[in-house]
Amino acid sequence: MFDLVVIGAGSGGVRAARIAAGLGAKVAIIENRFFGGTCVNVGCVPKKLFSYGAAFPDLFRLAADYGFNVDAGAGVDWPTLRDNKTREITRLNGIYRRLLESAGVTIIEAHGAVAGKGQVRAGNQLLEARHILIATGGKPFVPDIPGREHILISDDLFSLPVLPHRVAVVGGGYIASEFASILSGLGCEVTQLYRGDLFLRGFDRDIRQFVAEQMQHRGVNLRFNTDVEAVRVVGDSRYLDLSDGTELAVDAVFYATGRVPNIDALFEAESPVLALNGAVKVDDCFQSSMSGVYAVGDVIDRVQLTPVALAEGMWLARHLFAPHQAGPAPEYDFVPTAVFCHPNIGTVGLSEEQALERHGVIRVFRSEFRGMKYTLGDIQHRSLMKLIVDDASDQVIGLHMVGDDAGEIVQGFAVAIRAGATKQDFDRTVGIHPTAAEEFVTMREGKVVRG
Ligand code: FAD
Ligand code: NDP
Repeated sequence: MFDLVVIGAGSGGVRAARIAAGLGAKVAIIENRFFGGTCVNVGCVPKKLFSYGAAFPDLFRLAADYGFNVDAGAGVDWPTLRDNKTREITRLNGIYRRLLESAGVTIIEAHGAVAGKGQVRAGNQLLEARHILIATGGKPFVPDIPGREHILISDDLFSLPVLPHRVAVVGGGYIASEFASILSGLGCEVTQLYRGDLFLRGFDRDIRQFVAEQMQHRGVNLRFNTDVEAVRVVGDSRYLDLSDGTELAVDAVFYATGRVPNIDALFEAESPVLALNGAVKVDDCFQSSMSGVYAVGDVIDRVQLTPVALAEGMWLARHLFAPHQAGPAPEYDFVPTAVFCHPNIGTVGLSEEQALERHGVIRVFRSEFRGMKYTLGDIQHRSLMKLIVDDASDQVIGLHMVGDDAGEIVQGFAVAIRAGATKQDFDRTVGIHPTAAEEFVTMREGKVVRG
């Protein structure tokens, strides 16, 4: 009898299993594809490596402004980048496995399924469990359009045999925007197609507009209010029939139109209550409607980010096996996040639109500039920083940045925002000069906006 059986060795599952085992629980983990899950294998990590790779052409141009003449040759050697990335991911897989082994977790490589109360099927074994954790993550959603079989998904980018010359990226969220930037930076001719009037819905509107301008300026062809009705293959090309009546010929089509919870063949007899999209519904302690069955991470579809899955998995393990150490359950406000499109977006807290809705009167501080790094030549990359302040309390309730290293910069400020820093605290903080980040503590002219 195991104290905990975890289905899925991704971000949330591995963290929960390791913490639980460290607290003395007898733990098994079941994985049917890859250790480390989406993030390590086909998500955050390989994507970030490609994103670094895609920045080189700009760096080569910049180098010339500083007197270094770099011969970028014929552009990226795709097999080198792809295979170096794969070697690193294989190394990380091994690390994840060893972390589980050294924590004393029993590893089972099989498909896992909840067989009944306190029972988990792992391949042809039946495990008895006091607690079961579903941490099976998500999978790409692709709308059912004619020619769907000719479409690539995000997983495919990481093993492409050749880099296509002309690419369409469909979607306007995190993955589509990151992939459009990566493929463009690596030398592809990229068209990003989004069904709405402006992509990156949910982010601050000003930030979205600014990113759109900057991505266009860097060579991505953005087409909004455009949906794909069908994909046809003609010779080696894919033809996209678009909702505006035009067609687009490309060599590859990537769809990044959201991810849905992965519950494939997961429940044999009884299923816990699920949301319409298949997400396992859980209470504040991650318990599903089935007693002893818990769920964390993308499969509960609260916030689909690795650090959130990690926090949920860690909290649940402590809650089950050392409740006095658990502390309060994870909170979902002020979760910082970055989109690694080019330029990067870093953000924490409320957008201007959300702040107006919730707080009525706000002050907005905004600074747009060309980074010092670019001033020696003609590269016109610009950055934008924004602070949103609740007028009544002076608390900074939103902080947004577009520009180099936005994620790195916003991570630090997220601590201040989480701690409830006021605009006065920002004003009292001395800047580090010369940096881009100092803008956040030197913005003085705010605009009062009323809802
Ligand atoms: P996962 O990491 O998906 O792990 C689930 C695991 O369960 C998988 O290994 C799967 O094989 C296994 N599994 C599923 N069903 C079964 C079964 N029945 N039996 C056995 N095993 C099973 N987040 C960020 O914070 N930053 C980023 O930069 C970022 N970039 C991303 C880029 C891409 C392209 C994608 C797709 C996602 C990205 N994410 C990013 C999101 C992040 O990867 C997820 O939020 C995170 O991986 C969720 O963790 P999880 O534990 O819920 O699920
Ligand atoms: P998102 O939810 O971010 O975006 C999905 C996009 O697809 C939206 O623009 C949406 O449009 C569009 N869409 C949805 N359905 C359709 C349809 N039927 N036809 C056309 N377009 C459609 O999902 P992603 O797939 O980009 O990423 C999944 C999640 O993974 C993210 O939400 C994020 O949590 C995580 N992630 C995090 C990253 C990071 O931290 N840097 C990087 C990558 C992923 P609309 O807005 O109109 O609904």
